[in-house]
Parts: sequence; C-alpha cells; structure tokens
Amino acid sequence: EGSGGALYKIGVMEGDGIGPEVVKASIEVLRALERKLGILLFTFIPLPIGLSAFEKMGSTCPDKAMKILADCDGAVLGPVSTHAYQPDRNMPNPSARIRKQFDLYANLRPVRSIPGYSKFPDVDLLIVRENTEGMYADRNLFSGNGEWMIDADTVLSVRVVTRHASERVGRMAFQMARERNGKKHVAVIHKANVLRKGCGLFLEECRKVKESFADIQLDDFHIDAFAMQLILQPETYDVIVTTNMFGDILSDEAAGLVGGLGIAPGLNAGDSFAVAQATHGSAPSIAGQNLANPIAEILSAKMLLHWLGITHHDGSLTEAASILDQAVWGVLADGQVRTPDLGGCSTTQDMTDAIVSRIFATN
Ligand code: ATP
Ligand code: MG
Repeated sequence: EGSGGALYKIGVMEGDGIGPEVVKASIEVLRALERKLGILLFTFIPLPIGLSAFEKMGSTCPDKAMKILADCDGAVLGPVSTHAYQPDRNMPNPSARIRKQFDLYANLRPVRSIPGYSKFPDVDLLIVRENTEGMYADRNLFSGNGEWMIDADTVLSVRVVTRHASERVGRMAFQMARERNGKKHVAVIHKANVLRKGCGLFLEECRKVKESFADIQLDDFHIDAFAMQLILQPETYDVIVTTNMFGDILSDEAAGLVGGLGIAPGLNAGDSFAVAQATHGSAPSIAGQNLANPIAEILSAKMLLHWLGITHHDGSLTEAASILDQAVWGVLADGQVRTPDLGGCSTTQDMTDAIVSRIFATN
C-alpha cells in the first residue's frame, strides 16, 4: 500500500442490459487515469454475475464469483435485470446478495446540477440510503418470504428497522456532511407520524448521532412533505438520510431534477468494502445499442476510487478520483458531447472517449 505502486484488486461485474457497455466504459476510463498518472493502480478481476452467468454457470450469482470478490479491495457492479430472475431457479439478486455479504450498509447517491443544462441549476446534495433492511429486508429470514396472505384478500408485508442499522447509516450521513464542502446540514426523512415505531426509532438514532456532531445541523421531514419540498427548493438541501425504500424513491426523484438516471451515480459502502453501482437499472430497451450514458457508472467508479483513497490513505487514488471528477464535469458543462438521455446524439463510446481526452487535458 501507499503511493506509487499499490495494485488494488477491483472486481468487475458487468451485469445485464446496458451493464456490459457502461461497466466497460468505466474500466476504460480507470485505465486512462493510470496512464495519466504514470502508475499502475488496478488489477481488474472479471466476475460473472447476472443472466450471462446463469447461462454459463447455472447461477446469477455464482458462489465462486463471490469467493473471489471477497479477496478484492472493491468492485464495480453493473445493473441487473432482477425482474427477469426467478428466485426458485438459482437466480438470486446479485446486488442484494453482495450488499448483504459485505455489509454495505449505506448507499451514497450524490445529485448535482449540470451547469447550463439542468432545470434546477443549484442542486448539490447527497442521499444516504439505508441499504440493508426497511421494506427491502432480507425476506429469506421470514416464512412466506416476508409477505403473508392472512386471508384471501389481505397481505401483510414485513419492514425491519433496527437500532444498529439506523445508528450506523445516521453516522455515515453526519460524517459525509462534515467531509463535504456543503451546507453542513443533514435532513432525516421519515414518516414517524404513521410508522411511529419504525420511523420513530430511525429518527431517534439519528438524533443521538447528531449529539457528537456539533458542527452539523439536523432537520427532519415527513417523506410526503419532503418529496414536494425537494422539487420546490432542491438547492436548500445538503445530506439527506433515510430508510431503504424512501431512499430508493427519493434518489430517482432527485436524479430527475438535474438530468435523469444517466448521470446518477452511487456507492454501496460499508466499513471495509465498497461497490460502485449506478442508481439506474438495466434499461433493456436501449441495451446493446451504444446509446446508454456511461456517466452514472463512471462517476460511481470515481466514488469508489475516492473511498479506496481515504480508507487506504493513498493520495494517488484520491488524486485519480479528483482528475476523473473534473474530466466528467468538464465534458458535461461543455455540452458538445451528450448521449440521447441528455438530448444529444452521441454514443456511449463518444462519451467515454470525450472523458478520456479530458483526463489527459487536465493538469
Ligand atoms: P430495470 O428493471 O433493470 O430497473 P428499467 O427499464 O427500469 O430496468 P432503469 O435503468 O431503471 O431501467 O431506467 C428506466 C429508463 O431510464 C430506461 O428505460 C432508460 O430509458 C433510462 N435510463 C436509465 N439508465 C440510463 C443510462 N445510463 N443511459 C441512458 N438512459 C438511461
Ligand atoms: Mg428501474
């Protein structure tokens, strides 16, 4: 470890739909960063998951791949078409399994306006989504998969909120608010007026964490009122922390304010492992046509570099992350190269090439 020679093992999981295209673009960009800095930083380890893994190896999430992943320093994960998976046919959701196996308890999803393009010009916020429980708790732990038909016309569904998970995701949010050069503000989003116990406990834990962050302000909002506030005054918010499903929904809403899912990155983070994964799904309707915007996955990879740089105290990685960040935002602000989701007619490869050129143009 240290600068000038550490080789980080990065698991590369392409996933389904547009996954292979956007993951390949991310790896191309990471290779360009190595050339720019004149050092080798990464060993990329391809790991089969998703529908192609099911065809070749009989599982969407082969145990062998998970074993090799455990020996990596981090990973880049493409989207998976889970709607096409049948859980009874050895087709588990790799994304859910990885989050669980590596205890990646926080999903960090930053949202930023593109200068001169986004409808809302001054958005710069970070959604911290609880990533292990809530409405998306591991249903295998419950009989009936966590959903019970109690009579012919009634279903009960499980939602899990624990003190431990609420505390650690709350802490992550406050740490991020401190690290960001933002408004030093955390908004806790809940529905404690109705879900008194679960959301009540989540809010209580966030308030306790706040006691050790005197420099950060905390406000809390009901999810319904906040969904509206986010559209009326998105520039007011800095860090937003919330339970799993509310975070899922708010991330898409927030992405929509600035330009959509094509530029919405994410990092699944725990205490000792992290996996880059864009907010978007596998977008099967545009898969394999060189049309997908690779920026969401590329910025996710950037978040992974930054996270690795901080956790390994390695300045070359944080520098690489910062060069990549400048390159992407330079290309976006420039507006010459834009994929169809951003109203342009450039391809996935055009966008990747533009970012690579920009990497070499930054000093
Ligand atoms: P899934 O079932 O895997 O979630 P989906 O069709 O819902 O697949 P999403 O990725 O969730 O796909 O996104 C919905 C729509 O947003 C896509 O159909 C696509 O038009 C658009 N979209 C998402 N990601 C991108 C991207 N990276 N580039 C361009 N368009 C995208
Ligand atoms: Mg989707």
